[in-house]
Amino acid sequence: MIERTVFDRAAIAARIDALGREISEYYRNSGDLLVLGVLKGSFIFLADLVRSIDCPLRVDFLTASSYGSGTVSSGEVVLSLDPRTKLSGRDVLLVEDIVDRGGTLEKILPLLGAMGPKSLEVCVLLHKRSVVLEREPRWVGFDAPPEFLVGYGLDHAEEYRHLPFIGSLKLPEMKLPKD
Ligand code: 5GP
Ligand code: MG
Repeated sequence: MIERTVFDRAAIAARIDALGREISEYYRNSGDLLVLGVLKGSFIFLADLVRSIDCPLRVDFLTASSYGSGTVSSGEVVLSLDPRTKLSGRDVLLVEDIVDRGGTLEKILPLLGAMGPKSLEVCVLLHKRSVVLEREPRWVGFDAPPEFLVGYGLDHAEEYRHLPFIGSLKLPEMKLPKD
């Protein structure tokens, strides 16, 4: 159940307009910009973001799956991307849905960096700022509250991605064992 709306459609649209202007300015003279979305959470954000960028670009996606301890935020990360996608010599803008403790980005970035891009920057829609990262994303949509957020691409067990706004999820209360 959605507890409350955290960022509504109008707030998201206005912020993406501003991000698009900044990003367009930054890459104005690039000529070879690759916007690389991290699936699945970034798919709606990326779709709106690229339409607010008015310099030439190409779009691609990757998936980052974790294994090891079994949770998304820890363990090793395996990247899957189209083998035809070349990063070398290109300006790569990685687009992510949300940063919490930064573990996912910290694992993805060195792997992409090793593929020899000319530049590698990050644009993230939501940032929980749970910890200070060694390398902060260059562009952040919104600072996010410490709640579980869904909608606008973000899911809980694959549900809620289609919501046109970002809401916080009311998770069922944990039953504490009685002693
Ligand atoms: P990090 O590695 O930065 O700690 O965690 C980032 C990943 O955890 C995100 O890519 C996302 O998959 C998941 N995550 C963290 N916070 C939330 C949240 O509030 N909502 C959803 N849907 N996923 C989250
Ligand atoms: Mg993610």
